[in-house]
Amino acid sequence: MTREQELADGVARVRERVSHACAEAGRDPDEVTLVVVTKFFPASDVRLLAGLGIREVAENRHQEAEAKAEECADLGLRWHFVGGLQSNKAAAVARYADCVQSVDRAKLVGGLSRGAVERGRDLDVLVQVSLDPPGADGRSGAAASDLPALVDRVLGADGLRLRGVMAVAPLGGDPDEAFARLADVATDVRRTAPEATWVSAGMSGDLEQAVRHGATHLRVGSAVLGPRPPNG
Ligand SMILES: *Cc1c(COP(=O)(O)O)cnc(C)c1O
Repeated sequence: MTREQELADGVARVRERVSHACAEAGRDPDEVTLVVVTKFFPASDVRLLAGLGIREVAENRHQEAEAKAEECADLGLRWHFVGGLQSNKAAAVARYADCVQSVDRAKLVGGLSRGAVERGRDLDVLVQVSLDPPGADGRSGAAASDLPALVDRVLGADGLRLRGVMAVAPLGGDPDEAFARLADVATDVRRTAPEATWVSAGMSGDLEQAVRHGATHLRVGSAVLGPRPPNG
């Protein structure tokens, strides 16, 4: 089987899962955007995915993302950044990303804003919310209690457009319960930012639960591309 056939099968399988989940939830599949996470896979795969109709891709590491976005600049894709971000890299990420989903602390806002203003184009931003139990190791995402201040910072920053929230279900936890909490957080955020309607939740293993709880963006990697290399 060629790589193109493998990816075509992966895309078809995931699209089928999404439409099935939407049917179960009584949702229109057009409300749900598939973002394919291409981290650790070569730019040639991104090119094949574009040929298969994928319009949105995501990366989680700055150097890899920057290189691939440049190599694939002719494809007109939308690039999402979904990884942990150092504040001294934020401006650089804002120069190629179309959406930064992993804004989890106020320290990132200044750099992202500067990069977006320099680029001359608004940057879509999601605030990343932690769904882990308080005090969990290696949690990523803002604690619910820190969210209002973070939302205010983003809303007050030039060049940034707050589109909604993003989260990863806790390892070993129940994604249904976690995404139900995320839906409540998203509702809260919309009280101050009514236009922040995106909910990015759901990966290869839990996209059905995410659709059930209102996800508008799914971030799917291995179910489309196959297993990542061991360090991925
Ligand atoms: C890698 C990654 C994904 C995709 O994970 P899969 O399980 O391969 O679908 C989604 N979101 C984030 C933040 C990631 O880092």
